[in-house]
Amino acid sequence: MPSLRLLLTAQQIQSRIQELGAQIERDYPNGPVYLVGILKGACIFLSDLARAMNTPARLEFIGISSYGKGRSSSGEVKLTKDLDVSVEGQDVIVVEDIVDSGITLSYLLQLFRQRNPRSLRIATLLDKPERRQRAVVVDYVGFQIPDEFVVGYGLDYAEDYRNLRDVCVLAE
Ligand code: 5GP
Repeated sequence: MPSLRLLLTAQQIQSRIQELGAQIERDYPNGPVYLVGILKGACIFLSDLARAMNTPARLEFIGISSYGKGRSSSGEVKLTKDLDVSVEGQDVIVVEDIVDSGITLSYLLQLFRQRNPRSLRIATLLDKPERRQRAVVVDYVGFQIPDEFVVGYGLDYAEDYRNLRDVCVLAE
């Protein structure tokens, strides 16, 4: 049976998100800023981040699949749901749950650049820098974490644990 080890408490997560929200608000005082969440993992982070800033924000989502049901990336990224709107000439922040190898993000950056936004930045709740295979610049990082498989606060293992308030390491 897998067991959970607490890594980040709900309180730590919420207070860091307030800081990130304030930082984004300073960087984009007028808005609207397009917060584009990557389904499904980023939906909880995105909804808290959006409410941590006073800048007018528009919430959009795209669907990506790369991990399937396991713990390791297939290395293949597929777009499963595209944006419903044009972001041409807009300020876009791609909102990720976690950056691991960087493969998903480098695919997304390429995709978004073709859409000619005015600006394009990345926000992620979690970052595992040790695992990077593609060099990607992440503008807003919640927490850097060690190379361990985590669940909770939107992150799943085979679709379970997404609604945990904390982030936990899933251990065998
Ligand atoms: P990357 O393409 O950077 O390797 O992986 C990004 C995606 O892999 C994330 O959006 C997430 O869905 C998944 N992922 C990477 N590390 C973890 C982890 O520790 N836990 C979970 N649940 N998903 C992860």
